[in-house]
Amino acid sequence: MYDPLVATDPGTGMPYPGSYWADTAGPAPQDDGPVTADKEVEVAIIGGGYTGLSAAYHLVHEQGIEATVLEANATGWGCSGRNGGFALKAGGRLSYQKMIRRYGETTARGMFNEIYDGLARVRGLIQDHNIDCDQQADGHLWVAHRPRMMKVIESEARFLKDTFNYDVDILSGDELKQQHFDSDEAHGAMRFRHGFGVHPLKLAYGYHRLARAAGATIHTSSPVLQWYREGDRHLLVTPGGVVKAKKVICATNGYTSQTLHPQLKNRSFPVLSNVIVTRPLTDTELAATQFVSSDVITDTRTLRFYYRKLPDNRILIGGRSAITGADACNPKHNDNLLRALTSKFSALGDLSFDYQWGGWVCVTFDDIPHIHQTEDDSSVFYAMGYGGSGVSFAVQAGMRLAEKVAGISKGHDLPVLSKPMPKFPFAPFRRMGQRALYHYYFARDEKR
Ligand SMILES: Cc1cc2nc3c(=O)[nH]c(=O)nc-3n(C[C@H](O)[C@H](O)[C@H](O)COP(=O)(O)OP(=O)(O)OC[C@H]3O[C@@H](n4cnc5c(N)ncnc54)[C@H](O)[C@@H]3O)c2cc1C
Repeated sequence: MYDPLVATDPGTGMPYPGSYWADTAGPAPQDDGPVTADKEVEVAIIGGGYTGLSAAYHLVHEQGIEATVLEANATGWGCSGRNGGFALKAGGRLSYQKMIRRYGETTARGMFNEIYDGLARVRGLIQDHNIDCDQQADGHLWVAHRPRMMKVIESEARFLKDTFNYDVDILSGDELKQQHFDSDEAHGAMRFRHGFGVHPLKLAYGYHRLARAAGATIHTSSPVLQWYREGDRHLLVTPGGVVKAKKVICATNGYTSQTLHPQLKNRSFPVLSNVIVTRPLTDTELAATQFVSSDVITDTRTLRFYYRKLPDNRILIGGRSAITGADACNPKHNDNLLRALTSKFSALGDLSFDYQWGGWVCVTFDDIPHIHQTEDDSSVFYAMGYGGSGVSFAVQAGMRLAEKVAGISKGHDLPVLSKPMPKFPFAPFRRMGQRALYHYYFARDEKR
């Protein structure tokens, strides 16, 4: 598998992974094909996932600025077509409690509102433009995987109410069983009323169609292999021609190679997450697990598992995976996911999976996303670092990028988000640290 810490680019025109999403999304929307000759553009956007497509749509539609997307492979080929499809009220990995300790309550409130706005924006785009993406009903369950975790859940619920006046529901183990599913590993839950499941690749296709209908150009199979400066223009070298741009947006997130731009080197950390999708559950299995819920579900582990029942009664479950791209295809990572699923639902002992794939989540050193206009060259912009919570926030970040390119901040600008991504100290040793942390978190998570 492409490894952003090792390879210089994610390939040219690579097929989608053999995912459930790629198998069920239907034909890819029409695009503008690869770049086939040198061309001049106003704004070039590198990366055709949610961030890049949202930036393109908002640039053209709201700011009246011409936008050209350069995607190495295909629309949604990166995380946007590989994720679990959990549109959550989330962005980044930093908890609000830590955010308050680090940046103060005003910043945490600003982030809360921005994140809320992100989810509303996704919902609005889906509804206003009839994006066919198998949207499910709202509900996100945060499930206590050990009895001791109910204290954490209850304390978080009080914190959300006291700080943001935000209401959640607390469910006991019995209520969870009556209303959602019967699991061996669910001792109660917090239920967020906002957050829903989608078909992530269909959603990416929807944004792609919107952006193109607004007037954006989307070149697929067009990786940026080299990037030079010539006067006031950026020269982006693709296999089919050089794209000369006045401004450039990097929307490459967890697929950003170390060589793409010096301002991005050692500032993000790609972390693999794997997903399996089971065969459809039989009526007997559905009855045995009482799995009536279409809520999206995460558990209280630090190395959390995320799972949901899909509209055709398959179960999707995802979680941490290999450390390196070279080890990504090791079957043990998918076996771990199946084992996790059957320990949650022992009634599903004979379950097999039909699909498995993985992708690179983008983590930043300070665990928050960054939407930045670079300081040494004000014509370069980037947004990334959603840390496994980008289905809603990437779209918000794309809209904010479009505002930044247009020179507008509308007073929404949160300094903490606009700062550059900090560099990782001891960057070459990031993966050694990751391995050690995985061992530590695993021991802590599994403690009874
Ligand atoms: C397995 C998995 C499960 C996840 N589940 C969830 C979830 O349920 N909910 C949630 O909120 N988030 C989830 N995420 C995270 C979420 O999918 C991402 O945060 C989001 O899709 C990021 O979108 P993006 O557009 O910024 O990046 P991406 O969708 O990754 O797009 C980046 C694109 O840049 C392209 N690119 C890279 N380099 C170049 C180059 N040199 N030239 C041209 N193109 C280039 C790549 O080909 C890629 O298509 C998950 C991620 C993974 C991997």
